[in-house]
Amino acid sequence: MGASKISFEASLAADVVEAGRCLGCGACIAVCPYECLKLVKWHPSLVKECQSCGLCAQACPRYNFSQTQMENFVFGRSRKPDEPFGIYRRLAVAQATDEKILTPAKTAELLLLCWLMR
Ligand code: SF4
Ligand code: SF4
Repeated sequence: MGASKISFEASLAADVVEAGRCLGCGACIAVCPYECLKLVKWHPSLVKECQSCGLCAQACPRYNFSQTQMENFVFGRSRKPDEPFGIYRRLAVAQATDEKILTPAKTAELLLLCWLMR
């Protein structure tokens, strides 16, 4: 995935946030190497001058997103017809038993954490 130089204003602000397509996932904020973005009312907002590196536009699932390109970038190949859930080594289902963390969001975070720790 080649990064094209485009500013936040010309990409995500115009085509995702102002167009009402932002999910509030925070991926753009996480990848900005200059810490230019902050989540405000579930949408990214500029807090510093954008350096137009284009990384936030590459990370956004609602802007020019290509699943095939992303799979090739992360896994080195795209999914096969018999992989409807995507590419994975092993699939596991788990649920927290502690009441304090027993919410769908926390369970999803736990699963992601298990995957990252492998
Ligand atoms: S500097 Fe940050 S906000 Fe600007 S384009 Fe790059 S990642 Fe996006
Ligand atoms: S990466 Fe997520 S938070 Fe950022 S603009 Fe796209 S959908 Fe919204």
